[in-house]
Amino acid sequence: MTTETRPTSGVSRTAVIIAQARATEHAREDRLFSDPYAQAFVDAVGWIQVAEAGRLNQGHFVLRTRFFDDYFRTAAAAGVRQAVLVAAGLDTRAFRLEWPSGFRLFEIDLPGLLAFKEAVLGVHRARPACDRTTVRADLRDDWPSALLSAGFDPERPTAWLIEGLMMYLTHAENDRLLHAIGTLSAPGSHLALEHINQAYTELPELRAVHSRLRRVGADWRSTVEDPCGWLAGHGWTATTTPQSTLATTHNRPVPPLTDPTRVGPARMWLTTATRTP
Ligand code: SAM
Repeated sequence: MTTETRPTSGVSRTAVIIAQARATEHAREDRLFSDPYAQAFVDAVGWIQVAEAGRLNQGHFVLRTRFFDDYFRTAAAAGVRQAVLVAAGLDTRAFRLEWPSGFRLFEIDLPGLLAFKEAVLGVHRARPACDRTTVRADLRDDWPSALLSAGFDPERPTAWLIEGLMMYLTHAENDRLLHAIGTLSAPGSHLALEHINQAYTELPELRAVHSRLRRVGADWRSTVEDPCGWLAGHGWTATTTPQSTLATTHNRPVPPLTDPTRVGPARMWLTTATRTP
């Protein structure tokens, strides 16, 4: 891997932190999901600090990955045959989940990140389990045109996923993103997202993380206090699922930074929604 193909933009480096967490989970015998390419991404980058940043939220990243895997399974079982990974990063769901025949999956991310991802997947001759299309676009710009040009069908119900992105955009940018998604969502569409609240950003445990993220230009720029109310305003009927529920379901410890008995009002929201009829 040449240095030119590594994801050097600060915010794209955060994708490697998630890949590190997924690689660690993949290595467990009792893993909650398998991600056979995650370690290859980490090896191709080789940053020492990746492991350190990922450890703090390892449990959350793992539960969230399994939660959104199950979200796609549910959407596919409901008849959805099109998905969009908004800020796909190094997500390999196109390769590692079972998809119904004819399923179309679009991955949107910044050009540098997707160039790196395709290079690593190419070296490993990875074959998607669905009809996969990458869309190189900045989600603060006119990404819907790029998505439509890539073959996205706005008449079909879609399962959207915004995982690990919203905190890096401003609230106005997130509002524009949700508005655009709404205009592209046929009846029967699904939406899942992760976001954080203000109290989460103030956790003392995260002070060192903030300064590291700031140094690489990936500082957090927004929070939300009422994700379901916010999504209702964008035409979605939403619910949030606490990590403690997922931890119980999967027989794992509650990730410390998501345990209300330790962090009080701080939240990393895991939200799923359906288009309000
Ligand atoms: N969703 C993936 C996952 O959970 O594995 C990746 C999450 S990673 C923390 C954040 C991703 O957002 C990176 O891949 C980064 O390149 C992407 N990203 C951040 N800002 C973006 C923007 N303005 N346009 C497109 N992608 C962006």
